[in-house]
Amino acid sequence: MGIYASKEQISLEEKKALEKKKLQINYEKFQRKGSMLAKHPKGYAINQCKTLDENQKFKNNRPNTFDFSNVGVPRFSNKGISKEEDKNEYFDSLEILQLKIKQVVQLLRESKYAVVYSGAGISTSADLPDFRGPNGAWTKEEAGISGGFSNAEETKIPSLTEIVPTYAHMAIAKLMELGMVKAVVTTNMDNLHMRSGVPADKLVELHGNSFKERCTVCGKEYYRKEEIYEGMTLKCEVDQCTGTLVDTIVNFNEPIYQRDWDTAKEHSEKSDLSIVIGTSMRVLPSCLLPEMSIIKNGPENNHMVICNFQITPYDDSSTPRVFSPSDDFFYYLMQELQIETPTLTPKGENIKSLSFPTQPKSHHVDSQKLDPSVYNVNFRFLF
Ligand SMILES: [Zn+2]
Repeated sequence: MGIYASKEQISLEEKKALEKKKLQINYEKFQRKGSMLAKHPKGYAINQCKTLDENQKFKNNRPNTFDFSNVGVPRFSNKGISKEEDKNEYFDSLEILQLKIKQVVQLLRESKYAVVYSGAGISTSADLPDFRGPNGAWTKEEAGISGGFSNAEETKIPSLTEIVPTYAHMAIAKLMELGMVKAVVTTNMDNLHMRSGVPADKLVELHGNSFKERCTVCGKEYYRKEEIYEGMTLKCEVDQCTGTLVDTIVNFNEPIYQRDWDTAKEHSEKSDLSIVIGTSMRVLPSCLLPEMSIIKNGPENNHMVICNFQITPYDDSSTPRVFSPSDDFFYYLMQELQIETPTLTPKGENIKSLSFPTQPKSHHVDSQKLDPSVYNVNFRFLF
């Protein structure tokens, strides 16, 4: 009995140590992002995308250049907004939201190649913090309030293996199954799109996936049940391949995997409707993608719909511009389309149970009070 008890003890200790290591990795990663965001010198983004930083780890043979030839350089680079405005959250009344949803449904029905772009905001109802909201990781870290990633141990950020896809994730997977959405491009690393049933060949994870490894030689990707940690160096299983497997996470300063960027760009250029969910669109180069087809082929038959609480540098290209939680947006969208959203993932997991509409928090501002002339033009290009 004693021996079993001590075995139990050791494994618990080991588990704790592993958890701690995981949190430390998160902490370092998000601290790096946080400090870079705080500096944001002009032109930083494009320069960083083009040059290889000496300190960066170049494990994946990732290329260090991007082709910006098809992409308009942002026209608002000199204009700024204050940090406070940056953090404000706005919401549409239910009546306004439903009117906007009707417009989105019409666009979706008319579209031939709709692409969904998602950011951290789509996963907040799965209990993952976002970055820039009043409760966002960076906002809290900056204010020294516990709740940022740096205080992950205190605030109990759930393990990525424990969280489940949200209503929005499930709705997107259903729309893809029906052919109404052709691809998903995400900067999330939480694996929730995969778990909701989006096929891997129609999903581009621009910043990698915590559960995905990639061979350094042949590029084959492996999805794992557990998060990938540094030091888990396995060999590629492809015959004759001598490559080792590395994690796919792309940190700030690191270039995006070229094949992912090319695939995302292909979808974006083909797309005639971009639905952008839960991102304030400040991270290059991914924030350039949703507007690509509008820039390349004109705004007449190409549209973008942004749904996010916070203003973005691309709001003036968004018709309509929706201020709502991702889950509410998809709930009313699916209702309007009269499509039922499955409540279980293909792996049998329950989606996060939510009531609609989601109650706006007290610090939210009615979007109708937002002067469009302010949110349409006065942005600096920042990320
Ligand atoms: Zn290989």
